[in-house]
Amino acid sequence: MTEYKGKAKFKAYLSGAGEALRRCVAALEGALYPTEITCDICLSELRTRGRYRVCANCLEELPYVGDKRCLNCGAPMSDEGDYCNRCQNTESSFKLCRAPFEYRDLAVRMIHDLKFGGKQYMAETLAAFMADEFLKDGMSAEIVCFVPMAPKEEKKRGFNQAELLAREIAERLNMPLLPALVKRKDTTEQKALSARDRAKNLEGAYECVVSQVKKRSVLLVDDVFTTGATSNECAKALLKAGAREVSVLTAAITRQKMSFEQDDRLVSDDKK
Ligand SMILES: [Zn+2]
Ligand SMILES: [Zn+2]
Repeated sequence: MTEYKGKAKFKAYLSGAGEALRRCVAALEGALYPTEITCDICLSELRTRGRYRVCANCLEELPYVGDKRCLNCGAPMSDEGDYCNRCQNTESSFKLCRAPFEYRDLAVRMIHDLKFGGKQYMAETLAAFMADEFLKDGMSAEIVCFVPMAPKEEKKRGFNQAELLAREIAERLNMPLLPALVKRKDTTEQKALSARDRAKNLEGAYECVVSQVKKRSVLLVDDVFTTGATSNECAKALLKAGAREVSVLTAAITRQKMSFEQDDRLVSDDKK
């Protein structure tokens, strides 16, 4: 009898633990993927569900890249002309780059929420704008891939934000997602370097490890485009593996009115 009671107690304990675990998982899911309809940015209640899960106020405040932008990298420009200083002075391996937002204000907040704030649902929000930018600008591609992180860096963060964005974009644009690239070199010491040294340090850091990119047009996804060094190196690796061309799509891009050498202050922004 005692033994039976003990068993029942143990069973009750187990089911209790199961219930606690279930609640814990539900709470975690709720935190990561909220189900009530609120603005993903300011969390105010949304009365209707529009194209984006963002309220009218935030939609208006978002720092969209205007029409005045570099024909190559898509950076917003203050001066007249077709190409920004960076693209005039350095050659790009990618065909073109586009981003819906300039990297400031609300766009910085959204990207920081995604990378450091535990709000992984922000990948879905940003990807909605990015996919629309892709379609709006008449970009084309056959395969989606993303800028990889060094294994050590990714383990520390627990995820790669570029991969989360790429996954959502591939789904929206109905294209296959391919983890084509790996980062061979740990460039975490990168932050302290000047833009020029940084580009040099990145040389050969990425490698394409799949053959499916051969003769294909590839869309490379990343969160922020700053100096362009990362996108350039990844594009080089993809072209080396036989890709026909590489286009880049990021959530945000920094305003490029300065030359590559003067770009150093931007480096501290990039926590990658
Ligand atoms: Zn809002
Ligand atoms: Zn440019």
